Amino acid sequence: MNKLAIAIHGGAGTITPASLTPELEKAYRGALSRALEDGYRVLTEGGTALDAVELAVVRLEDSPLFNAGKGSVFTKEGKHEMDAAIMCGKTLEAGAVAGVRSIRNPIRLTRAILEHSDHVFLSGYGAEEFARKYDVAFEPEDYFYDPYRYQQWRDVRDTDVFMLDHSKERKFGTVGAVALDASGNLAAATSTGGMTNKNYNRIGDTPLIGAGTYANNTTCAISCTGHGEFFMRAVVAYDVSCLMEYKGYTLQQACDLVVMDKLVKFGGEGGLIAVDAAGNMALPFNSAGMYRGCRSTETDAMVAIYKD
Ligand code: ASP
Repeated sequence: MNKLAIAIHGGAGTITPASLTPELEKAYRGALSRALEDGYRVLTEGGTALDAVELAVVRLEDSPLFNAGKGSVFTKEGKHEMDAAIMCGKTLEAGAVAGVRSIRNPIRLTRAILEHSDHVFLSGYGAEEFARKYDVAFEPEDYFYDPYRYQQWRDVRDTDVFMLDHSKERKFGTVGAVALDASGNLAAATSTGGMTNKNYNRIGDTPLIGAGTYANNTTCAISCTGHGEFFMRAVVAYDVSCLMEYKGYTLQQACDLVVMDKLVKFGGEGGLIAVDAAGNMALPFNSAGMYRGCRSTETDAMVAIYKD
């Protein structure tokens, strides 16, 4: 059997041991482990990389610990607007949504777009209409409410400050997954509520193919987390892929250059998870921490939060 591999993230930022209580740390590790195991099981049971990343992201969206789906951050007008994308490395097909409200699992909607639409990227009401057509689940506004996120937003709502979910005392984040399946196919998925107190209708890097999310069987699959404005302008995910494709870099070399050098010089805080067509994985970040985990046929499950 070919090598199987999956990596997940739950956001990067100012995450230090001092910033998490032991209970909260345990809760994060548990949520990450469950998402990782569920995603990995899809692969061992012969499922596709697309199915594996979708399920892992659904699990993280359903957890209020992370800034995606349930528990998404508040916009400047006190609402939740979510962005997400999914991409298949075999066909280069992709589905993406921006600014959707009330969708329980935005990543399920991106999968429906990938499969049933001639378009790649839908936003706002059009995306919601598409969701209705394909029976993607909706939830009332209060499903997305989380008391910690509300407090985060209340602290800054009368200012022009908008911030990474994990830059303040409470640490939560965007979620993502990348995987390699038994047929040698790669896939990537990312989902987010964006940044606390973001301007309404602000769109981040997450749903932009090539910026926050990218997959290509000839190189790698990438899911990013961090300050989206920088990740967009640095075209982070595609940059890693290009370094591999055109310069012959290994996955690790490409990730190190983009995340630890180029992004740092540029001022872009964050990180990414990546897997290549041979099943090598990289989980680099230039912030204090990143919620993350990975597993493959050659390596045991690993879940981590801080810098080692
Ligand atoms: N990249 C996301 C955004 O800018 C935020 C995050 O990763 O937490 O919307």
